[in-house]
Parts: sequence; structure tokens; C-alpha cells
Amino acid sequence: MKTPIAILILYFIPLFVSSQEIKSPLEKSNFSNLTSYNELTSYIQLLDAKSDLLKVEIIGQSVEKRNIYAMMFSSSQFDKDLSKIKVLIFAQQHGNEQSGKEGALLLAGELLKPENRPLFNKIDLVLVPQVNPDGSETNKRRNANDADLNRNHLILSEPETMALQSLFSKYCFEVSMDVHEYSPYGEAWKKYGYRKNADITVGATTNLNVSAEIRKLSNEDYLRYIFKYLSDRKFSSFEYCPGGPPDVEYIRHSTFDINDGRQSLGIQNTFSFIQEGMNGKDDSVENLQHRAKGQMTGMRGLLAYVYRNKDLIKDLVITARKKLISGAYSETVSVQSEHVRNGEKLQIKLLSYYSGNDSVVNVNDYRPVVKSLSDVKKPVGYLIPRKYTELGEWADKHSLTRRPFKQSGAFKIEQYFINGIDSIDFEGDVVVNPQTVVREFREPVSDNDYFFIPATQLKSNMIVLALEPKSMLGLVTYKNYAHLLKNREVFPILRVIKK
Ligand SMILES: [Zn+2]
Repeated sequence: MKTPIAILILYFIPLFVSSQEIKSPLEKSNFSNLTSYNELTSYIQLLDAKSDLLKVEIIGQSVEKRNIYAMMFSSSQFDKDLSKIKVLIFAQQHGNEQSGKEGALLLAGELLKPENRPLFNKIDLVLVPQVNPDGSETNKRRNANDADLNRNHLILSEPETMALQSLFSKYCFEVSMDVHEYSPYGEAWKKYGYRKNADITVGATTNLNVSAEIRKLSNEDYLRYIFKYLSDRKFSSFEYCPGGPPDVEYIRHSTFDINDGRQSLGIQNTFSFIQEGMNGKDDSVENLQHRAKGQMTGMRGLLAYVYRNKDLIKDLVITARKKLISGAYSETVSVQSEHVRNGEKLQIKLLSYYSGNDSVVNVNDYRPVVKSLSDVKKPVGYLIPRKYTELGEWADKHSLTRRPFKQSGAFKIEQYFINGIDSIDFEGDVVVNPQTVVREFREPVSDNDYFFIPATQLKSNMIVLALEPKSMLGLVTYKNYAHLLKNREVFPILRVIKK
């Protein structure tokens, strides 16, 4: 009698599927199809309807007018209970990095399981599973304006990055994570004979202007924690290491540029990370189950860490942000930096193309330390000439505070004269390096001609890095703003300092 068992199994399966456990489109396809924008929309709306923990909001629209969704998880009302810590996780700024989105959608389902509910006693979470829906639909890195969104967080020319930055400015999350994929299959690596092979890599902030305490906790304690968390769950991991192959190009841990998702939020003294899973080799669905689950596990691990260390992280972030807002005028900001060696040798885990086995390779040219090459003293704020309307629009996109400026004996106004324009290497790119001479600006400053951006706000260090002409991360290094910098002329943005 074979049939009764089969009948019994079929009969009981539905009882095990609670209303809480709604399968993601990827799970429904048995991990064989990427989730389309329409499927994503229906899935998260269904979760929203079924759960009291989740509310879905639209935070903006892509170039092609697709919605960008924020999934807001809170056990009460989002951002109402100030004792909680706010976490922002966002994925798929790059449309061809599909496992970030798929992992985020798996995470959403996971978080609604009853056993995960205690997380929300301490955490308010926003999950943005898909920042770049247009790129996702065509499986392309860039958005429909052909812009790389993860190089756009300073100039904010794209609707997708503006939506994300506005969301951040609204809630000032204490923790953030930007989820990507890396591709280990480049020709240079093939020639080298090895390639990267970690399921998940994680990087923290490295820009020198981010609070040293936050950098230390995130680069040391968090990385240790998450690598163990992933390994306990059978996912391999390594620290985020762009560059290479060894002997061809030096290996570092990160960019210190503030135009990406991690550093643009990190520079506001946020506990901020990038997580990268491995791309599929021949197409974006290859090994998709393992890739999506790896990404999901990394994100879940971040929440587990934040849950355990909520008070520590909140204290660090609040203290470091107070410093930005209160205006410690004597502070300096590093505007030019480089990656340097510290004598350490990196042992990197790579997959050998010859043997097909994982191997450990010694990296000699390993530059884990970021060193400042040029500092400026932080001013009280900047006077922006109104005739450069693009600067006013930029300030508004960043929700920067503007204030009327009253000239008084307490302040001195400085102007740069550009005495020559050299160039400087920035992580392999060449950017402008002006020679500047500081002069006192003695003309009257009227409200009609200038508006004032105080440096006493959360984006304080971002403002300095954007507006200083010598900043290798500054606006003048972008073609839309390059006209502000002219050889043998004065620089139009003025510095206000305390006498
Ligand atoms: Zn990416």
C-alpha cells in the first residue's frame, strides 16, 4: 500500500506553511529566475498586507518612472521610539548585481518569521531591495541615464541617488549597509592564475574624516564578528579588497571617496558598510540560491551584531555626530589622501585556475592604511555666490542648512587665488591639484549675491570635502562643476573663519 503515505504528505504540507511564510518570487521559481520589477512589487505589497511589522513606502522613482520601495520594519511606529537604533540596508544600485536584491527579498520574508520578532524590540529597519530598477530590468550596471549610481552620491544628478539620500536625511540612520556584487572573472586575474573566491566580502569606512572610533569598531570588531557569523553558516568571506592582481596592481581595502553609498553615509558618522557577494560566472542566475542566501545571511548578521551592540553603536554615533554639528572650528579635514603600506603582508585567499583549489597567496604590495596628504582647517562655513545656480541646486539636493550671513568683526572671509593647476593620482585616476594662495576678501558680502552654508551640520565634513578646491573628492573634479576652477583666477566659493 503505497498511496496513503503520499496522500498524507500532500495533505499535511499546507499546514506547515503559515500565513507568515510567503515565498519570494525567487523561491517560487526554485532559485532559477531573477525577480522582475513587477514580481518584486507584488511580493512586497503582499508582505505589507500580511504583516503588522512592515509598511512599504515609495521613496522615489527611477529615470523610467519605476518605483523605488522602502520596506520599513518596526514593532511600533517607525522612528517613534527613540531608544531604538535605526538601520538602513539598500541593494542593487548596480542593476546587474542581482543577488543583492534577491537576498534582500529573502531577508524580508525571514524577518517576518516569529522567531525574528525580538530584533525589532531594539531595531527600526528600512530595507530598500532595489535602488536601480531600470538597470535591474535590463541586467545593466548603470541606470537609464547611463550613470553609475554608486559614483553619484556627491553630485546627486540622478533621481535614484537623490531618493536614497533624502531617505537618509529624513531619518539619520545610525547604521547603513550598501549591498553589491563583485566579479572575480577578469582577464588580468585569469592571466595571474588565481581569482577571488569568497562568497561574501565586507568593507567598512576608511575616509580619514569619519570618526576614528567608528572606523575602529567597524573595521575590527564588526568584520571579525561577521566573518565568523558567515563561516558558522557555511559561507566563505573575506575583507573587501579592490585592486590587484598582486604584482600587477596594489591591493587596498576601499576607496576613501565619498561619492559611494558607504562613504557618503559614513562621512556623516554613520556605522556604514559595503557588502559584496560574488557575481554569477556565465550569467546572473548561476549559483543563484547560494549567492542570494549568502547575501541574506550577511545582512541578517549585520542585524544580529547591531542588536547585540545597540547601545555602544548609538553612543558612538551620537557623540561623533554632535561633534560635527556643534562646530569644533579648530578641526582639520583631510582633503587629499593616499593608500600606503604599513609593513603588513596580506594573505589573500584565492582560487587557483590551475588546480581548482583554494590557495593562500602573499600580497607584497598591500596598502591597508589611508594617509592624509593635505589638510584644511574647517571653516565656520562657506559663502556661495548665487549666480552659480548649480551650487544652490546642489545644496538643496543635499538638504543642506542655509543661513543668512551677517558680516561682523568676529569673522574673517578668505578667498583662494588659483596660482596653477597640477594633477594628482587618486586611486589610479588623475584629478586636478590646484596650487592655492589664500587672500583676505574685504568686499562687502550681500544676501543678494551670496548664501551661507554653515559647517555646523551633520554633513559638515562632506561640505568641506565638496567645496574646497584642493579636495581630490571635491565638486571641481566632476565635469559639471569643473568650470568653478580656473587657472590664475580667484575661486568663487568663499571661506568664513573665526578671527
Ligand atoms: Zn556594485
